[in-house]
Amino acid sequence: MTSTTRTTCPYCGVGCGVLASVDASEAVSISGDPQHPANRGRLCSKGSALADTIATDSGRLLQPQLNGETVTWDVALDTLAQRWLAIREESGADALAFYASGQMLTEDYYVANKLMKGFVGTANIDTNSRLCMSSAVAAQQYAFGVDGVACNYSDLESCDLLVLIGSNLAWCHPVLYQRIKAARERRPEMKIVVIDPRRTATCEIADLHLPLRPDTDIPLLQGLLRYLHEQSATDSDFIAAHTSGFSADELASAPDLQTLGNITAVNDADLQCFFDWFAATEKTVTAYSMGINQASEGTLKAGAIINLHLATGRIGKDGCGPFSITGQPNAMGGREVGGLASTLAAHMTFTAQNRDRLNRFWGSTAVPAAPGLKALDLFEAIERGEVRSVWIMATNPLASLPEAARWKRALEACEFVVVSDCVNDSDTLAVADLRLPALGWGEKSGTVTNTERCISRQRAFLSSPGNAKADWWMVSEVGKRMGYADAFRFESPADIFREHAVLSGFENGGQRDFDISDWRLDSDEDYESMEPQQWPILENGTSSLYREKKFYTVDGKARFRPMAASQSLQLANAAPESLVLNTGRVRDHWHTLTRTGRSARLSEHQHEPTLSVHPARAVKLGLPSGGFARVSSEHAKLTLRVTLDENLPPDSVFVPMHWTHSHSAAGPINALVGTERDALSGEPAFKHATVTVAPA
Ligand code: SF4
Repeated sequence: MTSTTRTTCPYCGVGCGVLASVDASEAVSISGDPQHPANRGRLCSKGSALADTIATDSGRLLQPQLNGETVTWDVALDTLAQRWLAIREESGADALAFYASGQMLTEDYYVANKLMKGFVGTANIDTNSRLCMSSAVAAQQYAFGVDGVACNYSDLESCDLLVLIGSNLAWCHPVLYQRIKAARERRPEMKIVVIDPRRTATCEIADLHLPLRPDTDIPLLQGLLRYLHEQSATDSDFIAAHTSGFSADELASAPDLQTLGNITAVNDADLQCFFDWFAATEKTVTAYSMGINQASEGTLKAGAIINLHLATGRIGKDGCGPFSITGQPNAMGGREVGGLASTLAAHMTFTAQNRDRLNRFWGSTAVPAAPGLKALDLFEAIERGEVRSVWIMATNPLASLPEAARWKRALEACEFVVVSDCVNDSDTLAVADLRLPALGWGEKSGTVTNTERCISRQRAFLSSPGNAKADWWMVSEVGKRMGYADAFRFESPADIFREHAVLSGFENGGQRDFDISDWRLDSDEDYESMEPQQWPILENGTSSLYREKKFYTVDGKARFRPMAASQSLQLANAAPESLVLNTGRVRDHWHTLTRTGRSARLSEHQHEPTLSVHPARAVKLGLPSGGFARVSSEHAKLTLRVTLDENLPPDSVFVPMHWTHSHSAAGPINALVGTERDALSGEPAFKHATVTVAPA
């Protein structure tokens, strides 16, 4: 007999619904869930191949291990709790840290955040989501007073002008791309502009591609805003009634159309065309992802996009808005529970009032007064010995962080490293003192929130292998063993979700956007049968933020982000002589290949890391296609096979991000990238490293 379970894809932030069927021989087959609002039955190549990537025994961590020896869960958890109590006693709570992941379910995240911020007493809990969308978070918090994404997927289909900037949607969020493509076939008058240094697969549906020079987004966006202002194409009524901080003086120093051609390397006619379309089209969405966020000025870039929509009043309306498309399956759910070091639970920020509110709700006294260490800052504190113990969950930072070799040395020297993972061979696991076997996708249960704020269930359809346990269970057990039994008496993900939902409405009074306290999930059966649901739910059954032009700042107005601090406004004229290394995804792989690397079908598309070079530049450098090149940055040197790509600008090279573990034949790709980061968000500038290239 075959049993079928409705669950959600564990890859990207589109959050597609999946039907997972298990037959009598325990073979798994996967199809798209026709009832899920994100995908209506569609799946991309990665989602379709999920059955190939399931590993219930081989390569799995199946028992807790302490210093390489198998131990019982009691020994493992008691040891962790005792070591943490001792370190806190000796060095204070900030000597402890937690590094989480956008792969964790909301319930796991909630409990980890509650333990660290509510009871251990440190805000040193950050997540690998810091690496992907924290610049968008910082920009939204500044502009709207909360981290609330302004759009729904339907806006991508109903707009008349879609601007995709720093986003190769066709490969990175393929089902969204399919939805947009279908919408364009229904409404051929819809225009699509792609802004990206590379001519990516997404350009197949573009009416206009602007191949701008890397890191010239801010001059382009500010130049557009200046143009709109000069053409009286801004909405002065909206600016006056619903915003603060608009500065016509600042715009006077933004580049004009004539200068922008030199700065961005985009031809004047294409710039003029884009500006005119933007000026004339009321229903405009600007969607962005890692090409904006993963930059040293990522927050300013995202802020410049939001500024355009505030200046034109194109927000909170159908087919309008700035839309941050997030990368991971549950980066959004993590943000809702305060999984970032810079936020508190339920979209609260670090104010005295929120701290008091959380302490009273949790029955704690330890909620810290100030944000904790952001990802790279946290690893620097480990390197200095200030953080003496870290618990790393569902992520492999020694593969995913820039300058990974440095953090390997730091973790090797760290007093007590705990790693929870479902695999048994990650780079980070290799340096762990305590290894905790975790459930993987298909085995664990909980919720995730996708890019359009839709909360969906992930449901188990496989039995737990070995002695692997749920992440929420491990954290709760440590909480109890540290002396906080009452606060961590959770028996199921449903228990946790209910507490999370009640907290979202606790003394909210409309002060925060995130409030799901009236969701009726009284029984475990209600939670089990929960349908995908967006928040907020409006009276007419739709869901949209900012529909009432209500923002969550002190004066209720959205704030323009000042751009005067941007370095690129001053420096963009200087064309770099050396090559710019751009990193990104390939179509059929996901992150560090832990899952997709198991599928022969997915590896067919690309099975090894390559260096893409423009043919003209390859000739100049003496690089034959298929030969090998030595790529050198100030941080590392790697040897990679050369492929020619005329869709790249001649002054850029491209390397896929996935082959980044230390045993990759080429060496870890991220070693080439430095730890330069956005000063406001802490997000690393993965998208920009300067390299030289020579024949190997
Ligand atoms: Fe999974 Fe994203 Fe593909 Fe949907 S688009 S099937 S969520 S990887």
